[in-house]
Amino acid sequence: MIKPVSNIIEAKLRECLPESVFRELTNSYLEEPRGRHFGIEGLLLTPDNTNDVARIVRICSEHNIGIVPYGGGTGLVGGQIMPDGPKPVILSLERMNKVRDVWLSENIMIAEAGVILKDIQDLANSSERIFPLSLASEGSARIGGNLATNAGGVNVVRYGNTRDLCLGIEAVLPDGRIFNGLSRLRKDNTGYDLNNLFIGSEGTLGIITAASLKLFPKPKNEASAFFVVKDPRAAIELFSLCRDRLGTDLSAFELISSVGLQFLKEVGPDVILPFSYEPQWMVLLDVGCHEGTLSQEVLEMLFEDAYDRDLVMDGVISQSIQQRDDFWKVRESIPEANHRTGAISSSDLSVPIGMIPEFISRAEQRLSEIGEFRINCFGHVGDGNIHYNVFPLPGESRSDRDHDRKKVKKILYDIVSNMDGSFSAEHGIGRLKTNELSFYSDPTKLELMKSIKGALDPKGIMNPGVILRIE
Ligand SMILES: Cc1cc2nc3c(=O)[nH]c(=O)nc-3n(C[C@H](O)[C@H](O)[C@H](O)COP(=O)(O)OP(=O)(O)OC[C@H]3O[C@@H](n4cnc5c(N)ncnc54)[C@H](O)[C@@H]3O)c2cc1C
Repeated sequence: MIKPVSNIIEAKLRECLPESVFRELTNSYLEEPRGRHFGIEGLLLTPDNTNDVARIVRICSEHNIGIVPYGGGTGLVGGQIMPDGPKPVILSLERMNKVRDVWLSENIMIAEAGVILKDIQDLANSSERIFPLSLASEGSARIGGNLATNAGGVNVVRYGNTRDLCLGIEAVLPDGRIFNGLSRLRKDNTGYDLNNLFIGSEGTLGIITAASLKLFPKPKNEASAFFVVKDPRAAIELFSLCRDRLGTDLSAFELISSVGLQFLKEVGPDVILPFSYEPQWMVLLDVGCHEGTLSQEVLEMLFEDAYDRDLVMDGVISQSIQQRDDFWKVRESIPEANHRTGAISSSDLSVPIGMIPEFISRAEQRLSEIGEFRINCFGHVGDGNIHYNVFPLPGESRSDRDHDRKKVKKILYDIVSNMDGSFSAEHGIGRLKTNELSFYSDPTKLELMKSIKGALDPKGIMNPGVILRIE
């Protein structure tokens, strides 16, 4: 039974931790990016080393105190905030922000959990390497949070999800022991893969304190392009053509709809739109080539081929770094435009790539049976991952359509479930999707997950209520 953190426990913590660990709790630790859910107050602790994290966890374990790990606070499923229950310890990794080691010849960096993703990217860049994880939240999200959520982002097509970018982790277990899996090995088949147990566990099995990360050679030249396509089916055929022609030089393949462009025009942020009109569907591609090949030329040849096959109708290829950045700003501003517009429901879905067109048309059809909506369907289609956001009509407010939220979600989740897809492709389960997890998951998978949780965290102190409901 989880207990609230009391003055007595705080006094015990103060006995073994430096004063700098205790910080005033501000509202920013209790809000999530969409501003829809709020956490209860807790005791904020900000240790700057692994041993202090272990001391905190040991005391919490002895006294059954719940711990909410906190990275950059950009998670979209409420994992980093606890809306009710006994007052927890909020354990922020923000001061564990050192890069411990870099081995350029091995393309490896060991970073602590609190290093901001953008700082990792910049450091890699300064050595002609890249750390390819890229999300619109990269200026705030921290690598520990990225690992805890197994974040995806725009470069998964080429480099994989966060777990594919990690060779090993260091973590504090729910009883305060330290697991040292910080490996530089690219091959190590010595039993169960414990690193991958913690990656994606959203703080429910332990606290990730550091990670050994893979760096990659920086492509010698990069370019992006917007290609206008007739419909999602043409987009998927184009994706297949890109894979055939470009292989692993294709880094990103994103779908954007006219509704996203309309939102940008209506509510901002201000961006330079690539066409003077609003194409109903377009894709944003990113290509990075190595020695001897020019990305612009590759994209021009791709466009000609795709045009001949009737897959694309119009296109624009970036001619400078600035233009490439401007293209990406369009894509990266869409979540903010959605936020400003105010969705009835936002979903992060995946289906097998070839089934995306069918998913989009089925979803549109089923939703039209319950009402009229504006739908902004966009995202990482190269990974089979669609962000499907449903909005009220112009003139209506989100609250006018609150009653539709549950119905919309049920329709979408039922469709993806029938297609062997996922109702949470990259954002995780957090506290917002626990019901869906128990409803849509394979029962054996759920049982195994509960057994793992019970074995590692028998007292249930690690991020209570995240992934598995408290029963
Ligand atoms: C504008 C915007 C765009 C986004 N785009 C994407 C996207 O393209 N792809 C994507 O996958 N996500 C995206 N996200 C979601 C979010 O940025 C990611 O989930 C990110 O990885 C969270 O990192 P964070 O440091 O902010 O973690 P937090 O929000 O602080 O925490 C997330 C979860 O991880 C746990 N946690 C945090 N740190 C640790 C740790 N050190 N050890 C154990 N558990 C920990 C928390 O308890 C919580 O459950 C986006 C969010 C926003 C706001």
